[in-house]
Amino acid sequence: MRQVDYPLPFRSLVRELRRLPGIGPRSAERIALWLASAQDARPGDLATALEQARMELKPCSVCGFFATGDLCEICADTSRKGGALCVVEYATDVLPLERTGVHEGNYHVLGGRLAPLDHVGPDQLRITSLLKRVEEERPAEIILALSADVEGEATSSFVAELLASSGVKVTRIAQGLPAGGGLEHADPLTLQRALSGRRMMGGA
Ligand SMILES: [Zn+2]
Repeated sequence: MRQVDYPLPFRSLVRELRRLPGIGPRSAERIALWLASAQDARPGDLATALEQARMELKPCSVCGFFATGDLCEICADTSRKGGALCVVEYATDVLPLERTGVHEGNYHVLGGRLAPLDHVGPDQLRITSLLKRVEEERPAEIILALSADVEGEATSSFVAELLASSGVKVTRIAQGLPAGGGLEHADPLTLQRALSGRRMMGGA
């Protein structure tokens, strides 16, 4: 007896969905079922939104946050210059911090964290551009807002060491962010406390 499998179009859809971060086989099948058969799924709109995001979004040339032109909305706002510079892992970490209302300066997106096992070294992250920015902008403080797991800690220490010679004050946000979860999983109050209770890592 031949083993039964889904028809090819369904298998192809599931295969593409499984390539998305955080989507396992069961979730991929459930999403595929919904996309392929639900009344209100509108797969055409989804495809258009995907293509538009891919075509029109690019990283801000200064900080790495989402932009549709050369600069993002945050870097284009000149009233923020000279304050603290907040360093995060991903572009999606910026808005959760922004919404706490505690940080009024600029951001710098590293694009991930050091993960030797996944072949992510310093050259894969936006570290050189961070050092250059610190030299040029001389921020009042550099706040490292990376996640609290082993890789996040290692990245914080690595960056703090590189920044030590700059003479700029380096702090990191207080513990309390979910280990391995990243900033997007922390609730606003936890984030606010983490930002307010930051501690010194070096510098002036
Ligand atoms: Zn920017």
